[in-house]
Amino acid sequence: MTGWCELCGCFSAIERHHVFGGRGRRQIAEKHKMVAYICTSCHRGPNGVHNCRETDLKLKRKYQQLFEQKHTREEFMALFGRNYLTEEEGI
Ligand SMILES: [Zn+2]
Ligand SMILES: [Zn+2]
Repeated sequence: MTGWCELCGCFSAIERHHVFGGRGRRQIAEKHKMVAYICTSCHRGPNGVHNCRETDLKLKRKYQQLFEQKHTREEFMALFGRNYLTEEEGI
């Protein structure tokens, strides 16, 4: 599949990424559409979400903000266990 990368904006091969994946959260992610469409380098490259904490955090924050437009922070914390918006960079 090709399309626009949500992170870098390039038009290329696009992969599906579960923003808050792992530990049984995939169903929750699907239900709340916490699925990003990003290019292969933003996904699995050296600065991609799976290899670079900062990129990962950037994406998680974006999706937390989107979630909080429709839900409360308490709901977010209950579903995903933490609040990414107040965490310091690089922790
Ligand atoms: Zn990209
Ligand atoms: Zn992924």
